[in-house]
Amino acid sequence: MPSLRPKPALFNPIFRLTTSGLLRRTGAGGAVRAMDAAQVFDRESGASDEPDQRARLKIAIVGFGNFGQFLARTFAEQGHAVIGHSRSDHSAAARSLGAAFFRDPHDLCEQHPDVVVLCTSILSTEAVLRSLPLQRLRRSTLFVDVLSVKEFPRNLLLQLLPPEFDILCTHPMFGPESGKHGWSGLPFVYDKVRIGDSEDRANRCRRFLDIFAREGCRMVEMSCTEHDENAAEIQFLTHTVGRLLAKLDLKPTPINTKGYETLLELVENTRSDSFDLYNGLFMYNNNSTELLERLELAFNSLRKELFGRLHVNLRKQLFQSPDGGSSPGAEEN
Ligand code: NAP
Repeated sequence: MPSLRPKPALFNPIFRLTTSGLLRRTGAGGAVRAMDAAQVFDRESGASDEPDQRARLKIAIVGFGNFGQFLARTFAEQGHAVIGHSRSDHSAAARSLGAAFFRDPHDLCEQHPDVVVLCTSILSTEAVLRSLPLQRLRRSTLFVDVLSVKEFPRNLLLQLLPPEFDILCTHPMFGPESGKHGWSGLPFVYDKVRIGDSEDRANRCRRFLDIFAREGCRMVEMSCTEHDENAAEIQFLTHTVGRLLAKLDLKPTPINTKGYETLLELVENTRSDSFDLYNGLFMYNNNSTELLERLELAFNSLRKELFGRLHVNLRKQLFQSPDGGSSPGAEEN
């Protein structure tokens, strides 16, 4: 599949790794370890020494829902080979995006992707990751997650993946609605949690990040912890206010102000995201509970201020005599 886009300055061909591996578990729920194996997987996966083939990544998207398909479109447009897997059958959607879809995770892993992008709901990530037959992947596989929270997947990936796998935690801070007109200027946060020392591995990670850089994203390298501290305010607050306003069932009017239109836009932006996503932002970011409490306090304090003034004005009216002086009742009080 030829690339439809100009090659950027960052573009570096990736050289396929020459070793592959088998994996074994070290006890119930324990870490998965890689074992040396012959290079047969590389040949099976159709790796080629042609420069174009080396430059192209085979990217598996696990969780081929709303956001997974949104990413798949751009990956495919840039000439990468995209394969998908999900709980539901998204074969038709995959076909329309130029991607292959595998209902069985074993079949997906046997394709030996260079990169596996975890794109499932935050709440289902652990179960989905545990259900993947990691032993069928090459041991040099790069795992990327795009979850909207970051500390949780970082810890999970470090705990469940074999030590030979590379880990890149990312958060494209836009979605199918906010990124529908392109990704230029939109923030892309990433943390190279564990990238092997070899040039091949560094190149592969760079090439994956380059997909977003060449779309014009604002690339922000930031630790997962720092991301979550910032994201509670940025994301959770935005989604909460959007969902709160949605409950008011706001309607456009013939005299909309700019401010009101911003509110309607916020409702529109957040309404299209699943409740699972919103719930995940709350459940898996330690900072969200505190933010919700601060929001409630702020609302109560604002209401108190308004009702306080109302009370003062009412009292003035109640106790003012018709000639402008205070009524006897007011003096008694
Ligand atoms: P989502 O509701 O968070 O996730 C939907 C995906 O999760 C679908 O692929 C769905 O599979 C899968 N899934 C849900 N429950 C599952 C379960 N019990 N077992 C297996 N799979 C399950 O919506 P989304 O917008 O597509 O987001 C996907 C991920 O991207 C999330 O982690 C989210 O935080 C992240 N993200 C989203 C945005 C955005 O704007 N939407 C932006 C940045 C990052 P099926 O399709 O098979 O049902």
